Amino acid sequence: MDLLIQQARLGPDVRDVLVQDGRFARIEPQIVPDSLGRPCHILEATGLAILPSFANLHCHAAMVLFRGLGDDTPLHEWLNNVIWPMERRLTGDHIYWGTLFGCLEMIRSGITAVHDMYWQTAQSLRAFYQSGIRVCFSHPNIIPPDSAALANLRRDLEEHLALAKSYPTRVELAVGIHALYTTTPEMRAICRDFAHTHDLLVHTHISETRREADECIAATGKTPAELFDAERLLNENFLGAHGIWLSDSDRQLLVKRGAAIAHCPSSNMKLASGVFNDKAARTAGLRFGLGTDGASSNNRYDMFSEMRTAALLAKVASDDPTTCPAGAIFRTATRDGFQLLRLDAGEIAVGKLADCILVDLDHSGLVPGHDLISDLVYAATPECVDTTICNGQVLMRHRQIPGEEEIRRAFRDVAARL
Ligand SMILES: [Zn+2]
Repeated sequence: MDLLIQQARLGPDVRDVLVQDGRFARIEPQIVPDSLGRPCHILEATGLAILPSFANLHCHAAMVLFRGLGDDTPLHEWLNNVIWPMERRLTGDHIYWGTLFGCLEMIRSGITAVHDMYWQTAQSLRAFYQSGIRVCFSHPNIIPPDSAALANLRRDLEEHLALAKSYPTRVELAVGIHALYTTTPEMRAICRDFAHTHDLLVHTHISETRREADECIAATGKTPAELFDAERLLNENFLGAHGIWLSDSDRQLLVKRGAAIAHCPSSNMKLASGVFNDKAARTAGLRFGLGTDGASSNNRYDMFSEMRTAALLAKVASDDPTTCPAGAIFRTATRDGFQLLRLDAGEIAVGKLADCILVDLDHSGLVPGHDLISDLVYAATPECVDTTICNGQVLMRHRQIPGEEEIRRAFRDVAARL
């Protein structure tokens, strides 16, 4: 059914916004419902502002199962002693309810699209589709370099693509290469060729730690970015998470190839991985969006805190308060993120996909309201989001998400059986 959002603040104006077939169809001072000639669902939005929703470019949603476990320990110790042993025990129920619970938190902070990398593709996709948000999903391929495993990789990729295609909408597959240090050139070649054949994004972790970059240079004489390029993986479909230890020439190379980065400021700070150079990235024209990373290393799925953290971190790292202004980081979290997921959303404009949020202008962080975007970046919290809409469907209204109680109960239950 069509959706008519009435009397929402859009920039300096008040507008009615009509959504048809999942896209913004009309944006006008007033649209009379009776004139539409077909029934529509009316959403009263007086006192609310309409804004684009957020695209979360790097996540492991089901890792919310491990939230609070092994915090404040070094990355490799944490992975070896806490996360990997637990991940080996995950059942389909863990993945399904963990992902769905993670999606609740995303919807509550106005995220309607996510690039997620995790295990058990079938259960993950089922949960994402059920949640109502959009997902571009990649399996974190990590395999030993023997020929049987390589054959399985081809079979798995085919199977995952068929699964993704079985959903009518909102679900896309990407090809996951967990990282250079957990994969081999042979398997990366298979991933590259599969992605190329099917025009899929490639998702990986790149230059997240100094150790990763140093070991890559020591072993191959190339930086991680140079190695990906030598293997013909760097192109406009390449989305690498983190990119902290990129050199100036790495950034130039990524720009030349049209490759992009998912910047995850909270995760990078919590794990003391380093600082993504926002100023150098913007100056070079590098494409990037924002990601929360998994809830084990953040520990939130909250784009308000990512925007604020990214902006503050960029300023202190560059010793320049003009670096990463509010308007720029808001576009990074919205328009740029959707673009990198190849989604025609991230703006409130006729013809765009109807992904948006309605924020409560009475929320304490948005008062007195001199500059809405500045307030959203520096002062607001997810609680200002009254309504979240994805693909023209209302997922949350007055902060209520249908089915939330049942999901929380089931999630607590499976998390207790880790
Ligand atoms: Zn990650």
